[in-house]
Amino acid sequence: RAMSVPTTMKAVVVEQTGGPEVLQYKTSHPVPTPQEGQLLVRNNISGVNFIDTYFRTGLYASPKPKILGREGAGTIVSVGPNTSGFKVGDRVAWMANGGYAEYTAVPAAKTVKIPEGISDEDVMASFLSGLTVLSFVKETYAVQKGDWVLLHAAAGGAGFLMTQILKSIGANVIGTAGGAEKCALVKSLGADVVIDYRSEEGKDWVKLVKEATGGRGVDVVYDSVGKDTWEGSLEAVKRKGTIVWFGNASGPVPPIPLPKLSPKCVKIARPTLFGYIETREEFEYYTNELFTRLQSGELKVKIHKVYPMEEIAQVHIDLEGRKTMGKPLIKP
Ligand code: NDP
Repeated sequence: RAMSVPTTMKAVVVEQTGGPEVLQYKTSHPVPTPQEGQLLVRNNISGVNFIDTYFRTGLYASPKPKILGREGAGTIVSVGPNTSGFKVGDRVAWMANGGYAEYTAVPAAKTVKIPEGISDEDVMASFLSGLTVLSFVKETYAVQKGDWVLLHAAAGGAGFLMTQILKSIGANVIGTAGGAEKCALVKSLGADVVIDYRSEEGKDWVKLVKEATGGRGVDVVYDSVGKDTWEGSLEAVKRKGTIVWFGNASGPVPPIPLPKLSPKCVKIARPTLFGYIETREEFEYYTNELFTRLQSGELKVKIHKVYPMEEIAQVHIDLEGRKTMGKPLIKP
């Protein structure tokens, strides 16, 4: 059984790496055909993540031409050969490639049904970002009640969710963010200390973190800012502490001489979400954890804005320009 599917669609194609101008909005791109193990999804809404900018600039290599976008939510319109577990009409979320399009052929293995009572928008505001947070606070470093945690970019797509998850575990959260509005948002989530690291006073955030922890430093740092913060993160972590470097918002962390870790016996990690959700069991475990929290209302989402897909260049400009709070979404 298949719904009627057009042969062409609107999609954003990248043919070469570069600035936001390489994002080409096309109105008659071929609709893909689902192969074995795949589903064709008509996307109702898609997430935009900072990682999309890395594939656009080439910081992360990928074959081009390419349709960017790593997640979407919508309706299954056809099912590929030898593909089980899903049917036409199912409302699903997926994590794969090609979200900047009306239709995406996605692996069934990386697709889940969205439970009743959770909107497509709420899932997209928390899917890739939320699974990242849930896996990193459990597996990269197991955050404990009472831990002091330094979280950079706490008002961002991932940061907004991580602040809440850390507080629900009972950790003491020190969140950094740029500007008064973002800091107020982080504070409203219950963060214990909020530092505007772009303000005059907050520029010396290492000192403020030390003060907040009685000179000791934090148990763990979650640092996705990278280039601009990695040295400070190393200073702000306690003896025997852990630093989780997981992003490049300001540029990548340079190769670090390992002896720099010795004086404080620091542990470092550089995880990727995709390594924690490789098996179906792992993927379902974390999606269930997320959906439970969304359904109970324990986890709130924040959508920065839903942009029409043709404004995709503006979304990248806003993300890279530090203009967003919470998660930007696009409507294909
Ligand atoms: P965000 O919404 O958090 O956007 C990035 C934020 O980083 C900005 O809003 C800004 O917040 C801060 N930032 C600091 N310096 C800069 C700079 N020079 N340029 C731009 N932004 C800067 O994005 P996401 O939620 O999509 O992702 C957050 C981070 O987590 C990214 O680095 C991303 O790559 C990483 N990530 C990694 C994953 C993994 O598997 N390893 C998975 C998911 C996300 P402010 O203005 O407050 O400084």
